[in-house]
Amino acid sequence: MSEREPNFAESEKPGQIRAPFSSEQVAALNIYQTDGIFHPFTCGNDVLHDAQAADGQEQEWLLVATPEGWTCSSEACDYTQEWAWDFMADPMMLDRDT
Ligand SMILES: [Zn+2]
Repeated sequence: MSEREPNFAESEKPGQIRAPFSSEQVAALNIYQTDGIFHPFTCGNDVLHDAQAADGQEQEWLLVATPEGWTCSSEACDYTQEWAWDFMADPMMLDRDT
């Protein structure tokens, strides 16, 4: 318990990792996204996707993990996100039968 750690407040949010992700992390994150056991990360670009939905393309736009971070699964969207929960990238995820 040190009060001299100026970075501690940032990291005390439980278990976040940040891009760049390793190839193992990317693989695990994408398994997590499609596993269906947990709710996956979805795109936060509501303005664009609400417009697509109004155009009859309503769907849940999942984020896709890349080494540089998350990108939207819609090619029309440039949304990115650079953090994930650390448990999402747990290599144990890769040991499961899918
Ligand atoms: Zn999107």
